[in-house]
Amino acid sequence: MTDDLLVRWLTLACVRVGAARELLTDLDAAIGDGDHGINLDRGFRELQRRIETGLLGGDRPGAVLEGAGRALIGTVGGASGALYGRGFQRAGAALLELSGSDQVPRDGRSREEDALVAFNAAIAAIATLGRASTGEKTMLDALVPAFATFEVAVGAGATLAVAARRAAEAAEAGAEATIPLIATKGRASYLGERSIGHRDPGAVSSALLLRALADAAAVA
Ligand code: ADP
Ligand code: MG
Repeated sequence: MTDDLLVRWLTLACVRVGAARELLTDLDAAIGDGDHGINLDRGFRELQRRIETGLLGGDRPGAVLEGAGRALIGTVGGASGALYGRGFQRAGAALLELSGSDQVPRDGRSREEDALVAFNAAIAAIATLGRASTGEKTMLDALVPAFATFEVAVGAGATLAVAARRAAEAAEAGAEATIPLIATKGRASYLGERSIGHRDPGAVSSALLLRALADAAAVA
């Protein structure tokens, strides 16, 4: 993943989160405390500010992702701030480990392979921190099928743009599929069976972030 694409993705994500602020907040009002859109909007605005002022802490993709994670952890708040923040941080750390002290971002690996490593690390971090798996009505219900789809697409030789588009579609389907689920993690779990009948806000925001990646990659 080139820096350029990363920055375009995060910039577009900021715009999309801002536009979906009400939707995400309404979804969270139905089964949580009604702050998900507000939380994410605050975090992505701060992230945007750091991008514009060069405060993310480095040029390499791993450093950009780590810096994005730090920005989100510090400003989003709520469960999703810790989860998304840790996800971005671990994605960045995984990329930095791959390239070691090497100043060359990728030695022989494709950006699709780098994206797979980063995406995988993000999901593992979120699942570990949230002590969650699929079927619990969380962001993982969008992210896990999206990653599986992404992996298959990259394995079949798809470009990052195509793989990201398929991943976004899988995430959107995954978010829809949270409607009949009972939440067993996070605030929504307090509602028990009353959580049935609503899309999980975090699954919807995850799908939105992946759609932004697909759209950013499409014009690369
Ligand atoms: P809070 O619940 O603290 O108000 P947000 O409203 O910002 O935080 O985020 C809620 C979203 O976070 C949920 O919709 C869900 O997708 C996600 N989430 C909450 N708890 C967990 C968890 N333990 N594992 C994975 N995702 C979780
Ligand atoms: Mg909330």
